[in-house]
Amino acid sequence: MSTGVNTGGQGDGVDRVDTLDLVTTRAWIHAVALAVSAHRDELTELDAAIGDADHGVNLQRGFAAVEAATGGAGHAGAGHAPETVGQLLGKVGMTLISSVGGASGPLYGTAFRAIGRALTTPEADGEQFALALHAGLDAVRALGAAAVGDKTMVDALTPAVAAFDAAVTAGGDLRAAARAAADAAEDGARATTPLQARKGRASYLGERSIGHQDPGATSTALIFTALAETFERRG
Ligand code: ADP
Ligand code: MG
Repeated sequence: MSTGVNTGGQGDGVDRVDTLDLVTTRAWIHAVALAVSAHRDELTELDAAIGDADHGVNLQRGFAAVEAATGGAGHAGAGHAPETVGQLLGKVGMTLISSVGGASGPLYGTAFRAIGRALTTPEADGEQFALALHAGLDAVRALGAAAVGDKTMVDALTPAVAAFDAAVTAGGDLRAAARAAADAAEDGARATTPLQARKGRASYLGERSIGHQDPGATSTALIFTALAETFERRG
């Protein structure tokens, strides 16, 4: 049985994590649901400043539906239980699309669906997951037409995917790649503060959107931080 932990060793006393398996993916999604709940008010306050004050509530509703649909947090789960990482993440995406009304539901939903579709083997290694993350980013860009600098989730997602890819290419394991991605996403989210929004609801504010961190970029950082912490907890 695979534990997702490869005991090949890196010479520093910490085992490499070279596989994203179903158990770890479930733990990640559960950690995202917890993080979204814990940060709901903060996300809502950010959205109150430059949007319509629903981002935290939107994501909390979405990830509660995800937990119900995928059997997290003690729910029985509806329909067929996902058997692969790709199926699970695809189901996360479908559920977000159908349960979140705001812009972020279709955007995150499409991203998770694209990530799931890209993962065709039961478990994923670092290279496969990097490719899947690229597919997720491409899907968000195709749907929302936002570029880096437009003050959206793309400002956190783009550097996160690049950092993940670079870490894997440099020989880093999934734990190291996820931590690099989380740090890059947090930097990207913070860097949205001085920007003027050019996409989404915040763009209606024009220059008044300057001086506030983008809520979607902030939630993207939470999602990658949850991934890094999930790998770190699994040792
Ligand atoms: P809504 O804007 O419909 O109220 P949310 O509040 O849930 O939806 O999500 C707002 C976030 O969605 C923004 O902070 C931004 O990061 C993201 N967003 C909005 N429009 C786009 C877009 N076209 N491309 C990428 N991200 C976008
Ligand atoms: Mg909103």
